[in-house]
This record gives sequence, C-alpha cells and structure tokens, in this order.
Amino acid sequence: MKYGEEILKEDMNNDAVQELQLRLSGFNGGAPDGDFGSGTTKQVKQFQKDFMKLDDPDGVVDKATFDAIDQFARQYTVPFDLLRCKCKVCTGFGRGLFKGEYRTEKSHIEAYHKYEYPGIHRMLLWAYRAVLHYHPNYTFTINSGYRCSEDNKQHGRKSTNHCGKAIDLDVPRSTGETERDDNARCNAIRASIVEKCNAQIGWASSNKKSLEPENIAPTWVHYDVRNFVAKYLEDHFFCKTAEELDNITPITVNAGTPGVAATTPTRTTPTTVDGTVLASKLNVRAKPQSNGALLGQVSKDEIVKVSENKNGWCLIEYRGKQAYVSARFLRLQSI
Ligand SMILES: [Zn+2]
Ligand SMILES: [Zn+2]
Repeated sequence: MKYGEEILKEDMNNDAVQELQLRLSGFNGGAPDGDFGSGTTKQVKQFQKDFMKLDDPDGVVDKATFDAIDQFARQYTVPFDLLRCKCKVCTGFGRGLFKGEYRTEKSHIEAYHKYEYPGIHRMLLWAYRAVLHYHPNYTFTINSGYRCSEDNKQHGRKSTNHCGKAIDLDVPRSTGETERDDNARCNAIRASIVEKCNAQIGWASSNKKSLEPENIAPTWVHYDVRNFVAKYLEDHFFCKTAEELDNITPITVNAGTPGVAATTPTRTTPTTVDGTVLASKLNVRAKPQSNGALLGQVSKDEIVKVSENKNGWCLIEYRGKQAYVSARFLRLQSI
C-alpha cells in the first residue's frame, strides 16, 4: 500500500512509514528506516500536538493526520528559487559529477564526498518547514542552497556539503540590530532545532541531522544531513522541484476507527457496543463536533457504551444522557 492508502501505526514496517518519517523529520525525527517504533509514535504525537493542536494525540496516522501533513506542506512552501545553484553553468542542482570520489587530501567519509547529488535531500527540506513552524515570528531566508563543483571553483571553496546535503538559513537583521544580536538569535534557533527536531550541534552521531556550531556559523544556521549513512543518501531521497519534494498523492485511507472494519465508516445499531478509551483524557461533548459544549471527560481504559458511530463521532451514554466523543480515541468492541 502506498503512503495515504492505509492507517499507519506502531509495529508497521514499510515504505509508507519511511515517507511519513521523512515528512515529519522536523518533529523529533530520526533515521527514515521505515520501522514504526516508539520513536515514530513520539514523532507523530508531537506533530499532532504542535501542528494539529490536538489535546489527546494518539500517534496513529489516520486520515485527519495525513490531511494535516498535506496542509503543513501547503502552509510552509519551500523556495526552490533560493535553493538553486548560482554558478550559471549547471542547471541548478549540479551535473551529477564525482559520484564515489572524495577530496584528495581527505579520508573517504561523506563529509568529503564530492558527489553532486541530484537535488536537495527531501528530509532536510521537510525539516526546514518545521523550523518555520516553530519560529512564526521570524522571517527566514535561505542564503545558501545548492553549491555545485563549478560554483565552488568560482568562489575558491572546498567544502562539498552543499552539493545537496545542506542548506543555510538566515533571519535578516532588522534596523539597529548588531552582529551580537544576530549571533544570539542564531544560537537560540539552533537550540530550538536540537530540542524540537532532534538535531545535533556538530557531527558526533550518525543518522542525526546536524547543525554547524557557532564558531563556524556565527550569524546563520547551517543545517545538514551529511551524517546519514549511504542508504539514506541514495539518489531517490533528493529532489529538484516542489512537486518532487511534496509528492502529494491522494489520501484514500478510510476515516474509520481502529477496531471498526474499514469498509463500514458508518454504523448504526440499535444495541450498544463497548468502546475502550485510548486517550489519557477524552472530551465528552453535547454535539458531534469539536466545538460542541463540553460535558466532561472520560479517562484511558474506561469503557463507554456506544450506540452509534457516524462521521468520526460516537454517540454514548454519559451520566444518564446522550453525549458524543471523537471516534478516533476509542477502540470499539467488534460485533
Ligand atoms: Zn552549479
Ligand atoms: Zn552551510
């Protein structure tokens, strides 16, 4: 099944999970290994809490979460015009030269790999979106995107990390701001990226997103994926256009709840079934809508009697009255 065609949750392991991990890289992401473990659940919950503003994030990628990820992409557009190489020789993202070749005086590690990757790493650009999300008050620009071997020659540079594996972010100074202010802001942004996006300052660990330390990047933020192992730097991870980056495909997953057959999104029965509360606290409302009057809450593992499950809301009996809870946070007994 492709990304968007089935609910993704813990213990799954497939390409759709890898795509999910990549898109949520900026929310405490790690290596895109395709394995939905507790780290990925944490990633999804952080996205559900911080972007979707859910009180009870469940870490399950259902239709609403898939839709929110598409919305996240639309909200934070990536400026490919600023990412393109400025050499005027290549077409914007190198010429595919030097695969498997390393800077002569250096050891054969990725940091010295001269390969002009075919675009910018998608995970890095999705992670950039999260940086924008977590800093709504700053206006970011990208002051270095792709720098091919020709561009390096024109500027007398040796570093090859901007051949698709790095971007430099910058918040332009406002009037009256000093270099010291700029430096302090960049340090604060780095600290936030470490906390929210699971990046590291420097390159101690493999498979972690990296930030250049302050002494190398005093007044800008250099963000890279050069410490990822080769299988996460294969050509297919790189993109040259917004379409390739977003790769928006139809979300066809059924909006049904776990435990309810996916082919029956609507179920009306005269009798009741038991629903087990999955969220730590689940709001009970007077109407089947998120702004319906709040009647109270039920707690994790409590059992509620569900008499109807329709459009994502379950009709339950609560303190002797009819009330509604979101179906996403109930596991319904199968009947
Ligand atoms: Zn170029
Ligand atoms: Zn840089």
